[in-house]
Amino acid sequence: MIALPPQVHVFVRDWLSANHVLLKGRNDAVVVDTGYAKHIPLTRALLASRAGLDGTSLARIVNTHCHSDHMGGNAALQRDYACPIAIPEGEARHVAAWDERALLIGYAGQRAERFVATEIVRAGTVHVWGDLEWRALAAPGHDMGALVFFNDAHGILISGDALWRNGYGFVMPAAFDPAALPATRATLEMLGTLGARCVIPGHGEPFTDVDDAIERALRRTAAFEADPQRLVWHAIKVMLVFTLLDRERIPASAIPGWVERTGIIRDFNAQYLGLAPGALAERLAIELVKTGALRRDGSDLVPA
Ligand SMILES: [Zn+2]
Repeated sequence: MIALPPQVHVFVRDWLSANHVLLKGRNDAVVVDTGYAKHIPLTRALLASRAGLDGTSLARIVNTHCHSDHMGGNAALQRDYACPIAIPEGEARHVAAWDERALLIGYAGQRAERFVATEIVRAGTVHVWGDLEWRALAAPGHDMGALVFFNDAHGILISGDALWRNGYGFVMPAAFDPAALPATRATLEMLGTLGARCVIPGHGEPFTDVDDAIERALRRTAAFEADPQRLVWHAIKVMLVFTLLDRERIPASAIPGWVERTGIIRDFNAQYLGLAPGALAERLAIELVKTGALRRDGSDLVPA
């Protein structure tokens, strides 16, 4: 168990909904990231619970970045609490236009309720949330507009999908964004200079072996740099697992249709793999079952 200051409470969620970080001050509170649309009822219940706001007013919703699993509860929570929504500057135009391609919503076969951002968070600015100071730092890579939030006094880093205990969120291949993988490396190197003592990631438990995590993430980055196809396979697998978590089960025979219908998968396949949808689907199923991410249940695939 990691000792966080009393103002910081982490609701650890899963791989469909990002964690919520509740920063609770004497007078009001801020929540960082709001999970995925499917789990809004649980998000609402957790936030309102004894361990959550417990009657304290929610002053602001903040997002590390605007992927569906981090901002999916924004609209619902804004209705509940009538509070502002603050998003990274780099996400603002995509959210304002509700660009389902740039936000990887419809383009990735995901969903999120549209919301209106009322505040912009810029890299380099300092914010007092939960009576603690947080520096917003640019963390491009997995999402080119992403921010992380660092509290110097306690050495706490809210990292979103820029750094997990094992890896980070998938990165766009070079043909789709040539800046993404170099930015991923630069962001990890920057994070390594912070001297963070505890990381609260977007997914998974908070952790303190920060240098080891950065080391692992840099090794993964080197493997992606050496083999672009590896990065593409990784991204496609991550998105299929996400889809399975969302839908709970899919007939194996429906995966080729998913490959063809899901814009980002179709485009990655066309650019890098050139496989027939059935062949791609079969290899995905075999490898994800082998690694234990999915299992077969009769003719269906289900999350393991
Ligand atoms: Zn993400």
